[in-house]
Amino acid sequence: MKYVSTRDKSVRLSGAEAIARGLSRDGGLFVPETIPALESGAIGKLCAMTYRERAAYIMGLYLDDYTPEELASFAERAYGDAFDTPLTAPVRSVDEKTHVLELWHGPTCAFKDMALQMLPHLLTSALLKTGEEKRVCILVATSGDTGKAALEGFRDVGRTRIMVFYPRDGVSDIQKLQMTSQAGENVGVCAVAGNFDDAQTGVKTIFSDEAFREEIAERGWFLSSANSINWGRLLPQIVYYISAYCDLVNRGAVKAGEKINFCVPTGNFGNILAGYYAMRMGLPVNRLVCASNRNDVLTDFIKTGVYDKNRPFHATISPSMDILVSSNLERLLFDFSGCDDKATAGYMAGLSSTGRYEVTPDVKAKLDAVFSGGFRSDEQTKETIGKVFWEQAYLIDTHTAVAWGVLEDYRAKTGDETPCVVVSTASPYKFCAAVLDALGDREETDGVGLIDRLAEKSGTKAPRPLAALKTAEARFTDCAEKDAMLPVVRDFLR
Ligand SMILES: *Cc1c(COP(=O)(O)O)cnc(C)c1O
Repeated sequence: MKYVSTRDKSVRLSGAEAIARGLSRDGGLFVPETIPALESGAIGKLCAMTYRERAAYIMGLYLDDYTPEELASFAERAYGDAFDTPLTAPVRSVDEKTHVLELWHGPTCAFKDMALQMLPHLLTSALLKTGEEKRVCILVATSGDTGKAALEGFRDVGRTRIMVFYPRDGVSDIQKLQMTSQAGENVGVCAVAGNFDDAQTGVKTIFSDEAFREEIAERGWFLSSANSINWGRLLPQIVYYISAYCDLVNRGAVKAGEKINFCVPTGNFGNILAGYYAMRMGLPVNRLVCASNRNDVLTDFIKTGVYDKNRPFHATISPSMDILVSSNLERLLFDFSGCDDKATAGYMAGLSSTGRYEVTPDVKAKLDAVFSGGFRSDEQTKETIGKVFWEQAYLIDTHTAVAWGVLEDYRAKTGDETPCVVVSTASPYKFCAAVLDALGDREETDGVGLIDRLAEKSGTKAPRPLAALKTAEARFTDCAEKDAMLPVVRDFLR
């Protein structure tokens, strides 16, 4: 199985090469040349497997340059004791037609763990397979969840180091302490005196600094990224869509072959795109419902076929979805345009020059056939958290609540009663202040103390990694000026 760039199909690489390289030099993303089909009987076989076995099986369909033994061993290690349930990604049934796929049982309590616990194995193995002799330094700019999940995934992984920059005033106290207390010999964390954009711009500047790349290459290092454009992050996410379906079949909630919907809280379009790939493989999916917060650029895109990022940016209580440029949409455009690299490159050129592009009627028709979209305000999201808690005795986080609300709107509008899986992306304990507020307990402070407060108020238990923060100490206290991030990386690689 080969991978091609969405902007130039003549760039054709093995899976290991695509994962090692991350992004194509033409700026495109790597996609599988053909999407493998689940053979008849595959769902039946997968139903009888554990999550880890499902992961090895499904990833094997895409990565024929990795052996089944390698993939099985990666799955064992990625989805082992770091998860607080042997089910890895359990499905909770709320009523006959509504189910919740909980993707936050990993070490950092957000869905990023599903991919970032696997990526280090895929990447370090890719380095060996491609004959890369240098060691890799992962650089991450984070607005919260990605940084911690990447640190936890790469900690003490051989031949790697990881440096995370976060905006000093742009993450919650819990997210900050999660990162600054990170254990591991190969990790570094540094605040940036600025906002998320400053941190991200700083990291991009380091990536594009040829002289610096040469300097560290002489010392045996190269730079790579752990963000969701890497195929090695998308692939592990396909697994849980198929796994959730199997779980529903196993419990008799759907009949084998019966179609279901998924409703996904979306930012960068990475999570929901994995659901689309699962559907293209033959998973019985009726519709994918794309849920946004006030940053509703995707809702408009799905409605009109026009992607336009020229609009105000809103800081919301679901911050991991506060995004105006959904990078992974590029992969969908490539697929919908019949693998037309020129057309895809054209859309992306429009996005970078005018902030906007409009898809052809043919692409729009394909979009209509699969995707629905909707958005929810912060006020509505808090209402949903309260309602679900009081009516269902189930505590959900702000991102999950966006999806829950959008699903209610979708059902009311369309009358579509197909069984639906709401994809739940974070533990409510990651966003204590907003969740407490939703339960009618407005707190003036942020702080780790809110973890106990939420446990008391809701009668639920905090996940162990978050409860442990109460006694955690910050190891990393440095703060860099936004134009002085490069020396931090230089020091880190000494
Ligand atoms: C990253 C994240 C999302 C958005 O996922 P995308 O792949 O960017 O669409 C949603 N919820 C949470 C909690 C996240 O951390």
